[in-house]
Amino acid sequence: MDYNHGVASELIKQNIARLLADLPEGVELVAAAKARSPQEVLEAVQAGIRIIGENYVKDAKEARELVGKRVKWHFIGTLQKHNVRKTALEIFDMIESVDSLEIASEIDKKCAQIGKVMPVLIEVNSGREPQKSGALPEDAEQLVREMSVLGNIKVMGLMTVGPLFGNPEDSRPYFAETRRIFERIKGLKLPNVEMNYLSMGMTSSYQIALEEGANIIRIGTRIFGERD
Ligand SMILES: *Cc1c(COP(=O)(O)O)cnc(C)c1O
Repeated sequence: MDYNHGVASELIKQNIARLLADLPEGVELVAAAKARSPQEVLEAVQAGIRIIGENYVKDAKEARELVGKRVKWHFIGTLQKHNVRKTALEIFDMIESVDSLEIASEIDKKCAQIGKVMPVLIEVNSGREPQKSGALPEDAEQLVREMSVLGNIKVMGLMTVGPLFGNPEDSRPYFAETRRIFERIKGLKLPNVEMNYLSMGMTSSYQIALEEGANIIRIGTRIFGERD
């Protein structure tokens, strides 16, 4: 057990060292921590990870108890109105997966109560997949406009997952379209909106995403290994 554990943490270290060495300047690496233990998250932080991405509030709370505030915490999971709670909003430094005005308004209202301005990204359903979350590409601009008047939210960019393919090259058009939407909205220079971040790319697709302009990549498997 201890032996296996040592091997695993050595792998996490090596994986992160390689990723960080290859990371272009100005790109942030988010360690996507779903299905990983707080201990594994801590090992990633000790190996140089500065941002943790969490899909579930409960996991984030557990990992944060061990790791603390020395890193940034991004929420990257599916948000429903009923689970936008103050205790969750208190622990996240950014929410990457806002996809409706209803959710945004709820975050805004609760953040007003705790005296916080929450940086958010708009999640775009770039593949227009019915089962996936995210605003439709054609609705993203309007959503940003509507969210820009909310005083306790700050729109800082876009995020997309995109359809998953065996061949990562097939992801390119979806990343490219999300980049076009990002640049267009950025060009509008809307008040209270700072289009700084484009979060795209996972283990299989991050190289393509970087070529298409991502400056946040979210990596799970290539850091921690295959999920059980
Ligand atoms: C799981 C997850 C990732 C990372 O996926 P890997 O393929 O393991 O790198 C990135 N983004 C989101 C939103 C995820 O849920």
